[in-house]
Amino acid sequence: MKIKTMAIATILAAGTLAATAQSNFDAKFKEYPTYSGEDLELTVDSKGTHWRLWSPKAQDAIVNIYNQGKGGNPVKTIPMSFHKDNGTWTASVPEQLYGKFYTFQIKFDGKWLNETPGVWAKAVGVNGKRAAIIDFAKTNPEGWENDKGPKVDNFTDVIVYEMHHRDMSMHPSSGITNKGKFLALTEDGTTTPSGEKTGIDHLKELGITHVHILPSYDYNSVDEANLQKNVYNWGYDPQNYNAPEGSYSTNPESPEVRVKEMKEMVKALHDAGIGVIMDVVYNHTAENDGSNFSLTAPGYYYRHREDGSYSDASGCGNETASDLQQMQDYIVNSVKYWADEYHIDGFRFDLMAIHDTETMNRVAKELKEINPSIFVYGEGWTAGDSPLAPERRALKENVSKMENVAVFSDDIRDAVKGHYTDSSDRGFATGKPGLEETVKIGIVAATAHPQVDYSKGNNSKFAYADSPEMIVNYISCHDDLSLTDKLKESMKGEPEENQLAAAKLAQTIIFTSQGTPFMFAGEEVFRNKKGVHNSYNRPDSINAIDWGNKTKYHDQFEYYKGLTALRKAHPAFRMTSAEDIAKNLVFDKIDSSKTPNLISYSLKNHANGDSWKEIKVVFNGASEPQTVKIAKGNWKIVALDGKIDPEGNLGQTKGGMMTLSPYSALILAQE
Ligand code: CA
Repeated sequence: MKIKTMAIATILAAGTLAATAQSNFDAKFKEYPTYSGEDLELTVDSKGTHWRLWSPKAQDAIVNIYNQGKGGNPVKTIPMSFHKDNGTWTASVPEQLYGKFYTFQIKFDGKWLNETPGVWAKAVGVNGKRAAIIDFAKTNPEGWENDKGPKVDNFTDVIVYEMHHRDMSMHPSSGITNKGKFLALTEDGTTTPSGEKTGIDHLKELGITHVHILPSYDYNSVDEANLQKNVYNWGYDPQNYNAPEGSYSTNPESPEVRVKEMKEMVKALHDAGIGVIMDVVYNHTAENDGSNFSLTAPGYYYRHREDGSYSDASGCGNETASDLQQMQDYIVNSVKYWADEYHIDGFRFDLMAIHDTETMNRVAKELKEINPSIFVYGEGWTAGDSPLAPERRALKENVSKMENVAVFSDDIRDAVKGHYTDSSDRGFATGKPGLEETVKIGIVAATAHPQVDYSKGNNSKFAYADSPEMIVNYISCHDDLSLTDKLKESMKGEPEENQLAAAKLAQTIIFTSQGTPFMFAGEEVFRNKKGVHNSYNRPDSINAIDWGNKTKYHDQFEYYKGLTALRKAHPAFRMTSAEDIAKNLVFDKIDSSKTPNLISYSLKNHANGDSWKEIKVVFNGASEPQTVKIAKGNWKIVALDGKIDPEGNLGQTKGGMMTLSPYSALILAQE
């Protein structure tokens, strides 16, 4: 998201603000007839071209046909006829109008509204103002019919890498030709000037399982007709939910090209064994009265206050109404469309708690019918208050009401590195005492555990997850300071080697914790954002990853590689039930008031079918060395003092007292 939201969200989650009830203004929308047929807006078949626009309260409606995506006059205007029973308007012509563009226009309250491509445009002209009629069969890359993402047995097996198209490839050091484009990830063999792998080869080398691409549907803020200006935006300003963003294509003027190139990116990643997760922002639109929702069914798709003004749980000017049937159908059908047409493997819901749990359950269930490997997760909070009752919101605290939906753990995020609102605040991994119990909530993936005292939790006071598959653990993402910048700010005055050590420790906590690990692109090479928190519209000079860092911080990269390899080789870190975690994950008794910033636990009993009988995991977040007592046995050393070897070949120990260097993790294993 592009705004500072979490403080309010945390308050709301704690239930200290009473939600306002649904307004009388919104009550009327429930009475609207709905239509969920698959032929909404545009169908081309052997009998011609057909339109069906849902707009129950329009007094009249037309389709304007154009020869081009921008400029010029309509070559034809077609009247539409109304179907009262389902609130749709239809029109047909006997020709297949491939290559043409169209807009809808409705008459509402006696006035003709502005033109709109509708809410279901799957292809659009430049800047998304007109819908395009294209033959999708012609947009498929070679071998598309056999294209498939990685099979996922359990969502805890997924390792998410969150990236923005421009961050990954814009820097000259990327060696990538199609900088900032979907095609960037289709290029094999790209390297930095000193020969380090970049792009898709880098992702393979790192060992992540899924990329999570920041919003890649058509958004509003970048002028696609002036790409030479190199404007940057995260894309949390949705315009057309069902068409790819034009600025990521090599030719935004051509409606086919963006579709084709996005598919080529998906195919290349799938061929590399990597899944593709899309960031989706159905919770609000870039515009209010001017949005495609407002221009097709004024008022309907949003929630309002009593006086009819837009309610604003998104902090961006409006919030959508998933609790209304036509909007719920819209969200469900839209993600299904991306899964079907683009073979997308997962969806990350922005400000998910603006949606209701019923909608999210439908999303997960209907996606699962298309592909059981599709991973659905989201931000279990809102940015402001909403008329939707808290018990209906897809909040973090309500995740157990949802099946096959996961939420981000802000618990572990804030406890490990320090609070996101205060750059100088330290966390468990950087020497701040008193956060041990909150870190443990993250380690057990917010499930009930006999040794975790939730009353001491900072962000949550109860075990909100029924299963580790409901939790995404992370230390940082596109929002706020990057991990590197956070460490630079909060560890001011300490040498860089301490910051590098703390980064390793922080990510070791994430990658060894139960739940699904998630990382922000580039942190494996100590990328920064030059200290900018909210970099959503800042230039590439702030946001692009300098891949020269891969040489400079090569040791850091090797460590991250070790983390992904360790996690993938050892199912003990990826348990699939709360019962297994309660049984097999045993914390060692440490009095945090006497020895703060020290956590030690074992994964026992060949947990989750692991080849190792027992794994010992110890974290020292203090600025001083700390000593722990390890049970007698034949231990292999997997990680120690900032080094990691997934095979456990760093050495051996018989147990006894072991000392951890400042800001470091110790991992031992017994066969
Ligand atoms: Ca756009």
